[in-house]
Amino acid sequence: MDTRQIYNWVDGKESPATSGIRLKKINPHTGLVDSECIASSPEDVRQAVTAAEAAFPAWSELTPVGRGGILSAWGRLLRERQQELTEIIVRETAKPPQDAGGEVHAALAQGEYFAGEGMRLYSRSLTSGTPGKYSHTVRQPRGVAGLIVPANTPLANIAWKVFPALICGNTAVLKASEDAPELAVAVAKLGKLAGLPDGVLNVLQGGGDPTGRALVEDARVAVISFTGSTAVGRWIAEVGGRRLARISLELGGKNPFVVCDDADLDMAVHWASLSAFSNAGQRCAAGSRILIFEGIYEAFVEKLVAKATSLKLGVDQGCDLGPVITAQQQSKILAAIERARQAGGRVLCGGKVPGAEKLRNGFYIEPTLIDGLPDDAEMCTREMFGPVASVQRVRDVAHALQVANASEYGLTAAIHTRNVDRAMWFAQRVRAGVVNINIGTFGSEPHMPFGGFRASGNGTREPGVEALDVYSELKNISFLVRDALI
Ligand code: NAD
Repeated sequence: MDTRQIYNWVDGKESPATSGIRLKKINPHTGLVDSECIASSPEDVRQAVTAAEAAFPAWSELTPVGRGGILSAWGRLLRERQQELTEIIVRETAKPPQDAGGEVHAALAQGEYFAGEGMRLYSRSLTSGTPGKYSHTVRQPRGVAGLIVPANTPLANIAWKVFPALICGNTAVLKASEDAPELAVAVAKLGKLAGLPDGVLNVLQGGGDPTGRALVEDARVAVISFTGSTAVGRWIAEVGGRRLARISLELGGKNPFVVCDDADLDMAVHWASLSAFSNAGQRCAAGSRILIFEGIYEAFVEKLVAKATSLKLGVDQGCDLGPVITAQQQSKILAAIERARQAGGRVLCGGKVPGAEKLRNGFYIEPTLIDGLPDDAEMCTREMFGPVASVQRVRDVAHALQVANASEYGLTAAIHTRNVDRAMWFAQRVRAGVVNINIGTFGSEPHMPFGGFRASGNGTREPGVEALDVYSELKNISFLVRDALI
């Protein structure tokens, strides 16, 4: 059977990349080729940006309410095609169907939210010190947005960027993740069905270099919104910063999950397990450092290990976690686990690929917990982006805070306690853009600003109304009522 070919989507139609190397998309569960695309060349990128630029005047002239109407229709189509989209996500990422389906819901909620933004917040009235002077601030689009996403939650990642970018009146070039190429084109096709004019959203296939790089380097791209690793984010900030492009960076995390001695241990185990292992730990917001008060350490660890070893791996409905996205990622994580072992870490559970015959060809790693390492060990400080968490002892909440903050990242944090003073003291002081009390380290909603301190980002927040600041310019307009002319 011929391998399915995935194309770019430029100016409202599928278009093969003009040149570049062939990229094979491997299904992470079967280990077999799922599809193939061509890594778009700088010339392909140029053409896509040209299409976005050409579509900009008409799209930006449309009223925000009109743009919102198209986004609403798009959201409805996502709902109608939920099954089809779920199947693509399952094939490309091998996450269990209920998780993939949940992602479709999350994406359409984003669509609905930003469709509604078309009717809100486009103007603010101001007072003036000058008699007869009236002032208001409006939002205006910036131009072409370059959107770059990873594959961990592929549809949610696309929705978080595309919907706010377009509602603000920008046009966009989305560089699909090389690990989820088909999904991005499927979303763009639904946009066209919903009434999105050609050229408003273009999709390019390809990896970081040359495709992503060429998009970042194109001087016509006025906003770059990037979700991915901190190393790449730093490079984008440098290159885009030189031409003063607006840049939004949603980067990595090494998120602390604190369990106090007064926590509801069973609930804390439930949330710690979800935080560390759901989506196979491939979340920027994964709870990958579990900090436990000494007084309950043994009791909590025993329960958490029991939970972790009970999790079901696989791609069937009801499985708890699938494989990681690529064989390279699997090897990288297994090598880090081995280094942790050699550094004196105690692997409490997992630490290896599962033996089950039906998982044999996939890029699976058993849910892994490691303790006994110093707080500054690689396993306790470096993002793994897999189902692996360090387990660390802390004396009290002040110590937990100190360990939590001893990280280059600052994306999310969670604390489990029944003591409101402890919870609020910690929440106020922890260096993280999102703090959750008695839940997991993740769980943002469309109207909530998400983003990190320090190496987890550059201070922007997406989604929520804050995303509008990424994708629009503010203009203050004042007018004077001249009494003599009335
Ligand atoms: P990655 O940085 O390797 O790749 C992310 C995207 O950037 C891909 O589309 C890739 O092709 C592209 N890219 C790579 N090099 C590029 C370059 N030089 N120029 C332009 N584009 C380039 O990250 P990944 O391994 O795919 O994803 C995992 C990372 O993403 C983790 O660090 C994770 O924490 C982070 N992440 C952050 C958030 C957040 O909201 N903060 C959400 C999800 C994932």
